[in-house]
Amino acid sequence: MSDQYRPFGRKARQLAFIDHDWCIGCGYCAMFCITKCIYQQPDGFWTVDQDHCIGCRSCKVNCFMGAVTMLPPKQEG
Ligand code: SF4
Ligand code: SF4
Repeated sequence: MSDQYRPFGRKARQLAFIDHDWCIGCGYCAMFCITKCIYQQPDGFWTVDQDHCIGCRSCKVNCFMGAVTMLPPKQEG
C-alpha cells in the first residue's frame, strides 16, 4: 500500500540532509520541496524531516550553497 510520501512504493530511496556548516538559512530548499518536509528550526537552520522526504533531489538542485547532501539509500522493510 503506497501513501503520499512513498509514491514509488516501499523501496530504497535517498534522503536529503542539510549540512549546517554550509546552510545560510535562505529557505529556497523548503520552497521547492514537493512534500514540504523541510522546516526552519528555532536557531534559523533548515532541517529535513527524513520520514517524509521522498528523495526527489529538488532541494539539492535548488540550493546554491551546495549544503544539501543525498544520503545513501536505506532499504525499507
Ligand atoms: S537552499 Fe541551501 S542554503 Fe538555503 S536554506 Fe536550504 S540548505 Fe540552506
Ligand atoms: S529530496 Fe525532495 S522530498 Fe526530500 S527534502 Fe529534498 S525536496 Fe524535499
